[in-house]
Amino acid sequence: MAEPEPAPDPVQRTVGSASRLWASELARAGIEHASGEVRRLMAGVLGLSPARLLAESERPLTSAELAALSACMARRVGREPVSRILGWREFYGRHFAITSATLDPRPDTETLVEAALEIARAEQWVTPEAVGSPSILDVGTGSGCILTTLLCELKGARGVGTDISPEALGVARANAERLGVGARASWLRADGLESVPGPFHILLSNPPYVRSGDIAHLEPEVRRFDPAAALDGGEDGLELYRRLAPQIARIVPGGWALLEVGYDQADAVAAIVAAALGREVVADMRTYRDVAGKRRCVAVKTRAEAYAQKCLGLSEAAR
Ligand code: GLN
Repeated sequence: MAEPEPAPDPVQRTVGSASRLWASELARAGIEHASGEVRRLMAGVLGLSPARLLAESERPLTSAELAALSACMARRVGREPVSRILGWREFYGRHFAITSATLDPRPDTETLVEAALEIARAEQWVTPEAVGSPSILDVGTGSGCILTTLLCELKGARGVGTDISPEALGVARANAERLGVGARASWLRADGLESVPGPFHILLSNPPYVRSGDIAHLEPEVRRFDPAAALDGGEDGLELYRRLAPQIARIVPGGWALLEVGYDQADAVAAIVAAALGREVVADMRTYRDVAGKRRCVAVKTRAEAYAQKCLGLSEAAR
């Protein structure tokens, strides 16, 4: 039997030369920020910091590394986002595992975290000795990134994350445990707020808010890889706000609700919330801008006494 031909030597690629090659491949496929995307993938797969990656630019890649990275680049050319290929996303400086059941956390959502931290300090809910303060409810928690980040930042805080997806709740729980705050978090399967017992100091939510008709026009990275249930906000994108708004005063009497909104939805959401609460129950209402300058978060503080009065009035009228 004839000896098999020896396989030709594969081109010896270094970290730097491979990354240049892949960046032009991704750019040709129409992927924006191709070099940055390649760097994130390489750093993630090789387990290196971006600075280390640069320092190792002359190092040859092993054939196993080359094979693993080529497969990742092919997935990126197929428009799968880097975070989904790696299986995690960095949010507020920490790593969160994500799966097909969870939204890929966006930097925009860090606006809610910043707003909650500012409010919790201003309200003096952050007390080193008080266990359970502030108490936090995260509605539609997905990967759990909002609640878990706040529990990491606020050592006395406790919280509940809800989601309609049991699979998402499993991901959220695992993230909280890995980041060391599992004991202060609980996870509840719920659709909306009707079955959620209050009260809490802070309610946060990044609900689905994309207009149903706009989903087909989103980037393939979003349209094909984020769960539809985390994006679709109904015909005008505001359906979930209409469902959440009437529950806000019961869930956070005397506390704050912080809602993420689409770039053009702040006024509409503020109007929905104000109408549902009634003028006398709104103690304060403001918006917070994201890094791009868009009004990304609508925040409302409720008046506990006015809400109690209103409930009393309603129950007397019903007699
Ligand atoms: N921010 C997401 C987007 O890319 C939408 C997430 C949501 O609907 N909450 O449009």
